[in-house]
Amino acid sequence: MNWPVASSPVPLESKQSIKLTLVIQPTNYRGRIAPSPTGLLHLGHAATFWTAYQRAVAASGTLVLRMEDLDPQRSKSEFAQSTIEDLRWLGIQWQEGPGIGGPHTPYNQSQRQPFYVAALNKLIEQGRVYPCHCTRKDLAQLAQAPHEDEPLYPGTCRPSTANRSINQPIATGVNWRFRIPDNKIIEFDDNNFGHQSFTAGEDFGDFLVWRKDGVPAYQLAVAVDDAAMQVTEVVRGADLLKSTARQILLCQALNLPQPKWHHCPLLTDENGRRLAKRHDALSLQKLRASGMKPEDLLRRAANNSEKPIVHRGPDL
Ligand SMILES: [Zn+2]
Repeated sequence: MNWPVASSPVPLESKQSIKLTLVIQPTNYRGRIAPSPTGLLHLGHAATFWTAYQRAVAASGTLVLRMEDLDPQRSKSEFAQSTIEDLRWLGIQWQEGPGIGGPHTPYNQSQRQPFYVAALNKLIEQGRVYPCHCTRKDLAQLAQAPHEDEPLYPGTCRPSTANRSINQPIATGVNWRFRIPDNKIIEFDDNNFGHQSFTAGEDFGDFLVWRKDGVPAYQLAVAVDDAAMQVTEVVRGADLLKSTARQILLCQALNLPQPKWHHCPLLTDENGRRLAKRHDALSLQKLRASGMKPEDLLRRAANNSEKPIVHRGPDL
């Protein structure tokens, strides 16, 4: 019998489709939980971190624990310790992190300063940032409208043209601010909240990337770390949606890959106020001490959520 002989065992199209399938294999999923050890974890953190964990599990992916302990005044080792205890009690498991190690050590932001300095240098070289000498008081006085997070920066120190200062060493004693592209619309699709759109100059102004005490701002540190740790999806609270727009600008300026986004609904207390670290009554430690089990706690979180909590796996 004469069997038809293929010129190549696998046609080219099939080879390509095999390759594409491999690219989206769920095992490539890398998620992260990134607590700040500046207080006790509360119900809201539990719900968000649980979602992050569930999404990593559903994708057979890797979960990274990154301790965001950049603020030397507010970060405390006892809070880092209690955070890890709380997360373990909840049943969350992670594969990389402080004390465990992994391919992207260190996992404490306080030990990652060289990464942030390199990113700041790049932004300075490109003329994307400028030194800002305004005090907090100056900004409070100049603010025209109250904003949720920080007043819209009025551009007091912004040079009239992008100032390339390649040969200048980093001035550590000043704030560095990112020059936003005026009126640029930043769009992204959030897996939970849908399409998002922010306008630079309206929703936020030139934002800080470096503080004069030598500490990188949240936006810079997170964008740099998520890229360095090859995070493919960021799961965090909806209070950071606007931060995402800023981080997308930083990723573009630094030529970093952008992760996918899944923001979680915020939780409120019995008076409808959003939970914050001052809500010690709803801290995991207190709830745990009262005899609450992890499943009861997550049920209570769902009842206090501004929007239904979605724990479903990633849409791959
Ligand atoms: Zn200024």
